[in-house]
Amino acid sequence: MSTEDSRGADAPLLRVRGVRKSFGDHVVLDDLSLDVHAHQVVVLIGASGSGKSTLLRCIDLLEDVDDGVIELEGQDITDPRLDADAVRARMGMVFQAYNLFPHLRVLDNVTLAPRLVHRTSRAQAEEEAMAVLERVGLAGKARAFPDELSGGQQQRVAIARALLGRPAVLLLDEVTSALDPELVGEVLDLLGELKQTGLTMLLATHEMAFARDVADEVCFLHEGRVHERGPAAQVFSDPRQPRTREFLQRFT
Ligand code: ADP
Ligand code: MG
Repeated sequence: MSTEDSRGADAPLLRVRGVRKSFGDHVVLDDLSLDVHAHQVVVLIGASGSGKSTLLRCIDLLEDVDDGVIELEGQDITDPRLDADAVRARMGMVFQAYNLFPHLRVLDNVTLAPRLVHRTSRAQAEEEAMAVLERVGLAGKARAFPDELSGGQQQRVAIARALLGRPAVLLLDEVTSALDPELVGEVLDLLGELKQTGLTMLLATHEMAFARDVADEVCFLHEGRVHERGPAAQVFSDPRQPRTREFLQRFT
């Protein structure tokens, strides 16, 4: 029996349990728990400093947790004996700043990690890279340099790079925050299309209209905990907690 079968059909793809993280004596994540199921889009909202980025960075093993468990497909990925690169290859992470290498063409930006870290051959990496660039609508830009693209296109390349290797889950941290307002839409539209293809995503955003449209579940972070969670329609139209209501009022 495979691990998947033994976990049962409704086991979460990503399971965060009792995670604690402090920087010095500043508690940033305080006994935080959440689940992301396969094909679900879970959106993290919350004030600046509420711990959204830290949570995503802990899941992507860019930060060590102080306590708690993070399971990906049933495996505790906080186990220090695991190869962090191998675990990270099962997730795609996209940051606010697109972090493309300016001196590398789009295709090389996308294939660099698999070639260096996973020792994939150039031919295989490029074939896969063209497929993901196709998916984000930028196959025609494979030979361009990043500064020949708009900010929105650059962020779509970063998303393509994160999709390489078919990650089980895509983690996205405010991927439109650094973009000019007129470029935000194309990136959000892409995320909506990726959701339609069944991609599992956990993302932090301040784009409340987008969150309402795309989220299966919304988690409001406050003081390092999930203060309120629920279906997007409920959290946005009828938040149960006064703090959630107060936060959302700033966006209306
Ligand atoms: P958000 O993404 O919700 O704005 P962050 O996770 O970035 O929140 O930050 C949560 C808190 O943790 C903030 O107070 C921030 O200053 C602090 N913090 C984040 N990373 C570090 C770090 N590497 N060292 C010290 N403090 C940090
Ligand atoms: Mg952040």
